[in-house]
Amino acid sequence: MIKYQIPTTPDNYHFWYSYVSASMPELNEAIDQAIKQQGTCSLVTCERLYQQYLAAEDEQQMEAVKLNLSAMANELGHSMQDAISETGQFQQMLDKSVGRLSQIDDEGLSFDETMGILRELVRESRDLRLSTAHFHEQLNHAQQEIKELREALNETRKLATEDALTHLLNRRAFDLELTGLMHSKQPFSLILTDIDHFKRFNDEYGHLLGDQVLRAFGKRLRDASKEGVSAYRLGGEEFALLVPYRNLALARQMAESLRRAIERMSILDRKSGRRIDHITASFGVGEYNGQESSDNLVGRVDMLLYKAKELGRNRVMPLPT
Ligand code: GH3
Ligand code: MG
Ligand code: MG
Repeated sequence: MIKYQIPTTPDNYHFWYSYVSASMPELNEAIDQAIKQQGTCSLVTCERLYQQYLAAEDEQQMEAVKLNLSAMANELGHSMQDAISETGQFQQMLDKSVGRLSQIDDEGLSFDETMGILRELVRESRDLRLSTAHFHEQLNHAQQEIKELREALNETRKLATEDALTHLLNRRAFDLELTGLMHSKQPFSLILTDIDHFKRFNDEYGHLLGDQVLRAFGKRLRDASKEGVSAYRLGGEEFALLVPYRNLALARQMAESLRRAIERMSILDRKSGRRIDHITASFGVGEYNGQESSDNLVGRVDMLLYKAKELGRNRVMPLPT
């Protein structure tokens, strides 16, 4: 990675780890080919090959990291064993030497014999110091590597479930959590929301401002994510909240207060100096009925969201009872 000046991001780490481990011969061939043709592996090529060969393999990557960790633990175990056994040998040698030194008086050892014993002691203790120093060095090295692997693993995990623009959880996380909630048998509600006339922000102020609106919207949802509530960006300008232990009426209230908070949002467009303060969103809310499929629940709430749009937007459906 240093040779080709590749930034050490988790994806690149994953990519080059795969290359070095040669776990996927087709990938290695493609990389070698690119290097032969371009003299380097450009970031665009890396990204393209990553998407082609590796993007769907986060799980396998985690396995590889786990294997890597356990191999390292193994190696350390051996080094430790070596160090312990050398310490044991040194102890024996020490006992023996001390025993022989105690004979100096009893048996009248000569000066040369005494010096011989001392020299041996010095040599053995130097060996021991070297082997424990080596062990310490390995330990430090392993600690550093474990730290890096752990960070890479966390990042990979996060990327697999996080939306890069808003840092909310993504659709994959939503599917996982929804399935989990349905299996848990606990009551919960689902809120779907979609920004009104979002296309106009893009058209009028540009895509970057559109992104800024999405981020601010995401922050409002995150602020509302308390007491087990989790917020997701499902795609584009569509978001969801999963609300455990709350029935339709309570979840509806939550959506209503969010709707009002969004109405109060105000964003400064630095380019034009204009203030954007007419952001609104529509909401659909539904309580899980305990037996329907996830598709059914999402479909039902999506219909209500569509109804809210149809009735003029900036509202929560169903109406309060
Ligand atoms: P409605 O009130 O009916 O929901 O109208 P809308 O304009 O919000 O809905 P529509 O589905 O017509 O347009 C959604 C737009 O969102 C189109 C697309 O270009 C834009 N969009 C999707 N993802 C992103 C994104 O990540 N960033 C930006 N800036 N725009 C996005
Ligand atoms: Mg919309
Ligand atoms: Mg939409």
